[in-house]
Amino acid sequence: MSDFSSEQKILLNQGKMLPVMEHFYTIQGEGAHSGRAAYFIRLGGCDVGCHWCDVKESWDATLHPLMDAEEIATIAAKHCKTIIITGGEPLMWDLNILTKKLKELGCTIHVETSGSHNLRGHIDWITLSPKKVKLPKEEIYQMADELKVVIFNNHDFKFAEEQAAKVSEKCKLYLQSEWSKREQNYSKITDYILQNPKWIASVQTHKYLNIP
Ligand code: SF4
Repeated sequence: MSDFSSEQKILLNQGKMLPVMEHFYTIQGEGAHSGRAAYFIRLGGCDVGCHWCDVKESWDATLHPLMDAEEIATIAAKHCKTIIITGGEPLMWDLNILTKKLKELGCTIHVETSGSHNLRGHIDWITLSPKKVKLPKEEIYQMADELKVVIFNNHDFKFAEEQAAKVSEKCKLYLQSEWSKREQNYSKITDYILQNPKWIASVQTHKYLNIP
């Protein structure tokens, strides 16, 4: 946060302001809620550093406008009562004010996170997508509703099993190919799931549909 002013840093630390990269109403493309209408709030800032990241422009939080947390909640809730907070890494920020306002407005709140920071806020559905370069905090594994492991190379299947051993029994288990490797990876994912049917294939359908 080197380029935020000291006043902005205070507001960010309090969760009153958040760096909003984009916000839009669309259909959730992947995972357990695939096909569901949802309002996405994509927060800027990520310190995980996956080399295959497809939203690298999110990493530097200072590039994204700060918005009042209650204001973005009000805008989102006007469109839809299912809200998906994503990033970047949204748990870098204190989400208490944003999520309190969303709950007051009758929303169901999802978050998509690597789990590498402590959760601050009220969340109804946690999509945990662990990354090898910065592992999740231990406490978030048992809170996760769905585990989504991105498959980039063969070692990621082993990583997926290590991560699955840490989540609760109710947690749904998804394997999803990294987008640029999808042609070669989905045949491997299919074979793997046929051998290990506790896993479910997740496909980024929004990219095929050419919607955000
Ligand atoms: Fe990109 Fe997500 Fe990895 Fe951050 S955690 S680098 S936003 S893929």
